[in-house]
Amino acid sequence: DQSPQRQQNAVADPNRSKVVKEIERIAANREQRRAKQEVRRQKLSEVDHTIPAWEFQAMINEYRQQLGMKHLTLHDQQKDLRITVCVRKRPITKKELNKKDIDVLTVPNKDHVVVHLPKVKLDLTKYIDNNTFRFDYAMNESCTNELVYYFTAQPLVRSLFQGCNPLVFAYGQTGSGKTYTMGGDLSQRDVDFSKGIYALTANDIFRQLHKSQNRDQFDIYCTFFEIYCTKVFDLFNEKKRLRVLEDHKNLVQVVGKKEERVESVTDVMSLIRRGMSVRTSGTTSANEHSSRSHAVFQIILKKQHTNKEYSKISLIDLAGSERGRDTQTNDKTTLMEGAQINKSLLTLKECIRALGRNAEHIPFRGSTLTKVLRDSFIGEKCKICMIAMVSPGSSDVDHTLNTLRYADRVKELNVDELKQR
Ligand code: ADP
Ligand code: MG
Repeated sequence: DQSPQRQQNAVADPNRSKVVKEIERIAANREQRRAKQEVRRQKLSEVDHTIPAWEFQAMINEYRQQLGMKHLTLHDQQKDLRITVCVRKRPITKKELNKKDIDVLTVPNKDHVVVHLPKVKLDLTKYIDNNTFRFDYAMNESCTNELVYYFTAQPLVRSLFQGCNPLVFAYGQTGSGKTYTMGGDLSQRDVDFSKGIYALTANDIFRQLHKSQNRDQFDIYCTFFEIYCTKVFDLFNEKKRLRVLEDHKNLVQVVGKKEERVESVTDVMSLIRRGMSVRTSGTTSANEHSSRSHAVFQIILKKQHTNKEYSKISLIDLAGSERGRDTQTNDKTTLMEGAQINKSLLTLKECIRALGRNAEHIPFRGSTLTKVLRDSFIGEKCKICMIAMVSPGSSDVDHTLNTLRYADRVKELNVDELKQR
């Protein structure tokens, strides 16, 4: 046995024993650090793995089952409202499911939406925090564009023939379904514009036009332009810059915008195709660009004999609402864009709120968007519809809450208690 011999050596050589002690101390420190790291790693892995999203999904599913669902259908009554605010939930995508997103939105009935926030208590018990909102209509993920149209733009088309200038807005974060709702399904190779609100509106206008009392009364024109920051560009004229001027009667005009005469829905759809391709041309990513500007599509009725504008409906695909909150960047252009988008969306909200309480003063001068749409904010007969689009994925839940809060501010409705089945 050699150990007594070694000990003897250590005792015999005090220097050596110092070195050994130092090494032991360093080793012990390292061990301590490792232990600390291990604890930290374990804590992290608790967040990653011991709280699987499916447990939350199960809780949400149970909530849905207990509540029972009663969806909006075409058999429901259209309401005759001056200001309509509704919400549309799009289906969760494969891409979202692949990144382990869960569907945290429930549309339990015709006018409510519930956001389920996954939460963990200190003792690690999981629960869902339910936030309920109410709007004039709530559309779930399986609804069609036709249903959305029926409760949003359709009631406004009727008012067009009574001389109103109605507005329909698609609001929401990028990717929430604004363009899908307004333009139609663009994801297939054979792009289908026929089911978008643009084409459905045009279809109705032509139908009304052929009714006897409107026959040979009006000619129909379309315009399509986009508003980027404070500038306006014509989508029917290779993005020509347009000037916004106020005349001596305080009427705001977009000078020189190209008006295209249309005689059928087919004409309208080919114009939409043209305008949309102009909108996305010259940029690397189509989605990137369109999320930073507002697109305004208008269908105008002109009296046949005088060729004077009688009324118009404006259908607006707004800039991505998340842009106004973009603080993740130091890029000057991006910051400026974000500030402008924020300003226009806030002004828009204030204008609709002012209208809702019949205020004397409508702050439409606050942004180019509201300035350009001024005609529609004045007069007793104006009608406005806001469609708030929401993505259902858990990773978008903050944006979704922001969208719902915005829509709620536009028109504050009391939440009803959701009855359990
Ligand atoms: P936004 O214009 O708000 O950025 P998009 O309309 O481009 O969003 O929608 C994002 C994606 O989701 C597109 O691929 C679109 O086809 C799809 N999508 C949106 N809404 C729906 C819906 N209701 N049903 C099926 N797919 C949808
Ligand atoms: Mg879009």
